[in-house]
Amino acid sequence: MFYKSTRNSSIRVESAAAIAKGISEEGGLFVPETIPSISMDELKSLAGMNYAQRAAFVFSKYLTDYTDAELRYCTESAYTTKAFDTENIAEIAHLFEGTYMLELWHGPTCAFKDMALQILPYFLTTAVKKLHMDKKVVILVATSGDTGKAALEGFKDVPGTEIMVFYPVEGVSDMQKRQMVTQEGENVTVCAVKGNFDDCQSGVKKIFTDHKVLEALEQGGMTFSSANSINWGRLVPQIVYYVSSYVSLAESGQIAYGDLLNVVVPTGNFGNILAAYYAKMMGVPLGKLICASNINKVLTDFIRTGVYNRNRQFYPTASPSMDILISSNLERLLYLLTGEDDAQIREWFTALAEQGTYEVTDAVKAKLTEQFYGGFCDDAETKATIAELYKKYGYTCDTHTAVAVKVYEDYRKETGDTTKTLIASTASPFKFSASVLDALGKKPADDVDEYDMVELLHEASKMEIPQSLAALKTKPRRFEGSIDKSEMQQFVLQELHLS
Ligand SMILES: *Cc1c(COP(=O)(O)O)cnc(C)c1O
Repeated sequence: MFYKSTRNSSIRVESAAAIAKGISEEGGLFVPETIPSISMDELKSLAGMNYAQRAAFVFSKYLTDYTDAELRYCTESAYTTKAFDTENIAEIAHLFEGTYMLELWHGPTCAFKDMALQILPYFLTTAVKKLHMDKKVVILVATSGDTGKAALEGFKDVPGTEIMVFYPVEGVSDMQKRQMVTQEGENVTVCAVKGNFDDCQSGVKKIFTDHKVLEALEQGGMTFSSANSINWGRLVPQIVYYVSSYVSLAESGQIAYGDLLNVVVPTGNFGNILAAYYAKMMGVPLGKLICASNINKVLTDFIRTGVYNRNRQFYPTASPSMDILISSNLERLLYLLTGEDDAQIREWFTALAEQGTYEVTDAVKAKLTEQFYGGFCDDAETKATIAELYKKYGYTCDTHTAVAVKVYEDYRKETGDTTKTLIASTASPFKFSASVLDALGKKPADDVDEYDMVELLHEASKMEIPQSLAALKTKPRRFEGSIDKSEMQQFVLQELHLS
């Protein structure tokens, strides 16, 4: 299986190279040249397997240049009960009749990013070995909060790697910030940027493709890679849990093999929902893919009108990991929906970079709405939904998950579609304790710190406090201060001792 770049289809590399590079040198994203299929018999055969085994099976279809032994090493190292607090790795909770929560936050940082970032370092270091690269891999990450911590946990003290994380100074929750600035490890750097997530992401993208920086890196015996969801090694692990949860629901008799299952995903960078699309294209019987946004609803507007327009007010919300106006992974979807028209992708994404907007053709728009439904809700509706779930079902969810639930309720009202549905629950409520407590009518006073809030939420929800969050309390802060977005490049060079 080869991978092509969305901006130049003649670039073809194997998966190890795609993962090691992260992004193609001309700025395109790597996509598999065909989507492998999974038959009903294969799906059924996954029923008796654990999560790591299911993952190895799915990876064997995409990462064909990795040996079976290498894939087993990666999956068995990543998906363990040492890192995850449940043997199922991806837990499924029954919310109400025909509606299930796919809890993707049982990993070490309590958000769904762990599902991919626990395994990416293994994919990457295996790739470097396979390719005889003999270079230090420098991981640059732009984060809206959750990716940064998950990447730091995944890469800390991994030999042959160095990781640098940039987060927007005002864009993350107290707990997210605390998780990052207390990060341990010899090979980690964390840096706050005066700006929003898009500033961080654009800054990192620019550094990745800057010739002067790349030259300096080369001379220093280093190479960049990305842990953002532009890296195929981030995306492919996310396909697994859609395959696996379909099998688990069938195995437990909640659905029959062949039944359609709708999927709802709270979306920012379009990575998680794109993974659901891949699972569907492989042959998993998934129905409508429901794309849920907060008030930064650039994706809702895009799905409804075919016009992508980032020229709009940016709003910090109670679901900060979705406060994104440039959804990078949309590029992969559009590449597929245009029949791999790299010239068209170049045109649209140049327009996005230069004018902040592009409009897709009617044909692409039709394909988009056939597969996807887009909806959004604001912070007041998010909080009302948290309160409603708590009251009706005794289930406490975080703000991102609540956006998905609310959009799903709207979808059902609008369409009358009662197909069984899987809602991606992307973070533990403890990660956003202040907002969740507020939603439950227990708004803490201003002087209550994030740990006391966790305690308060524990009392209200009767849920266990994740061990990893409780442990932060005694850890010293290692990374203080912030830089301007124009200083990011210089910062990277300095930290790597290249200037
Ligand atoms: C990253 C994140 C999202 C958005 O996922 P994308 O793959 O960027 O669409 C949603 N919820 C939480 C909690 C996240 O951390």
